[in-house]
Amino acid sequence: MLQEKELQKAYEALGISEKVFQLGQKQEAELKDRFEEVDRVAQLNQLKVIRAMQKAKVSEACLLGTTGYGYNDIGRDTLEQVYANIFHTEDALVRPQITCGTHALALALMSNLRPGDELLSPVGKPYDTLEEVIGIRPSRGSLAEYGISYRQVDLLEDGAFDYERIRTAINEKTKLVTIQRSKGYQTRPTLSVTRIGELISFIKEIKPDVLCMVDNCYGEFVETMEPSDVGADLVVGSLIKNPGGGLAPIGGYLAGKKECIENAAFRLTSPGLGKEVGASLGVLPSLYQGLFLAPTVVASALKSAIFAANLYEKAGFSVIPNGTESRHDIIQAVTLKSPEGVEAFCQGIQAAAPVDSFVTPEPWDMPGYDSQVIMAAGAFVSGSSIELSADGPMKEPYAVYFQGGLTWPHGKLGILTTYQKMVDKGLIL
Ligand SMILES: *Cc1c(COP(=O)(O)O)cnc(C)c1O
Repeated sequence: MLQEKELQKAYEALGISEKVFQLGQKQEAELKDRFEEVDRVAQLNQLKVIRAMQKAKVSEACLLGTTGYGYNDIGRDTLEQVYANIFHTEDALVRPQITCGTHALALALMSNLRPGDELLSPVGKPYDTLEEVIGIRPSRGSLAEYGISYRQVDLLEDGAFDYERIRTAINEKTKLVTIQRSKGYQTRPTLSVTRIGELISFIKEIKPDVLCMVDNCYGEFVETMEPSDVGADLVVGSLIKNPGGGLAPIGGYLAGKKECIENAAFRLTSPGLGKEVGASLGVLPSLYQGLFLAPTVVASALKSAIFAANLYEKAGFSVIPNGTESRHDIIQAVTLKSPEGVEAFCQGIQAAAPVDSFVTPEPWDMPGYDSQVIMAAGAFVSGSSIELSADGPMKEPYAVYFQGGLTWPHGKLGILTTYQKMVDKGLIL
């Protein structure tokens, strides 16, 4: 085939040997059915997003934005309606003033809990940065400092919910339950929306008025349902991950019950002001267009993850999720078994990037970590992890976590480049 030869030459110009290219072609062909399934989910989610935009009557005027107080910001208010339509919730708060995912989660917690209340995580330890928000690690301004206590029930050995312990952990003080959908950078399985629904039903049966919040980071648009479709009162996430579609330059979202969103709005701005203020400046076009692109961008990230899992599994490395498992977030872990492997992988991701491809990532002493960490990202939006990116702590078992890929061709190039680096260093025979 003419195109095949042309393609091989184009990969060769980017440093991919014919052998690695052929391996990639074979792998991609084997994944045809799987990729079609991913595309079907993307198709459904694309329709969901378009319908949500039409229903909210998004107009050209919505793209303009405001300055100053931001009163009557029709674009901001309409975007929030679009999010509420997508998540099938009463209301949403979607703002550039929410600086990141941690901020969005902290906002949801601090605004919906009061002194004397208790927070429960029935799915084990939450994401690292939440430890300081909650006060698991003592921190200035934490929930603990405001007299909000915390309880945690770990998952069972096999990843199942520990229903007995959850039942006994729920008490008269329990006000809010936080459920993290993605495994984040842990080895527990990611929760499917169905499993989240089962957990919420169980909790609501014990205590109907408890608020169930889901940390939805990395999960949006991976399935056709969201946690708010199975009983979550509040879903929270970052716009520089899935729902920003790679275009959102900043922001976070909360979607849920009207009262929960109002609480959050009064906390984000001020009591008495709430959602009425908060200029959107010039970012609305990217938030709208990014959301529009998000379903297919997430599909690209998923294909990249599935491709890598299968390629590396065949080369003898252990991968989580494995090559055939169903996906509930976009994160892929690959255990490379050596520090050289982690470095080679990250250098491959960096070398394939559109931005900063000439930079060589090296392990460094990152604050808050007990070992050196290496990171690779050549992103248009700083720190964006819907763009192809990877990081790994330089310690046993030498696992690297990677995610993203705004387009499947870029994801494929990135993975093949990591593989080439591994081959060049003799880490794959
Ligand atoms: C990324 C992430 C967060 C925090 O988001 P930041 O934008 O990095 O602050 C919280 N929870 C999960 C599961 C995440 O993946």
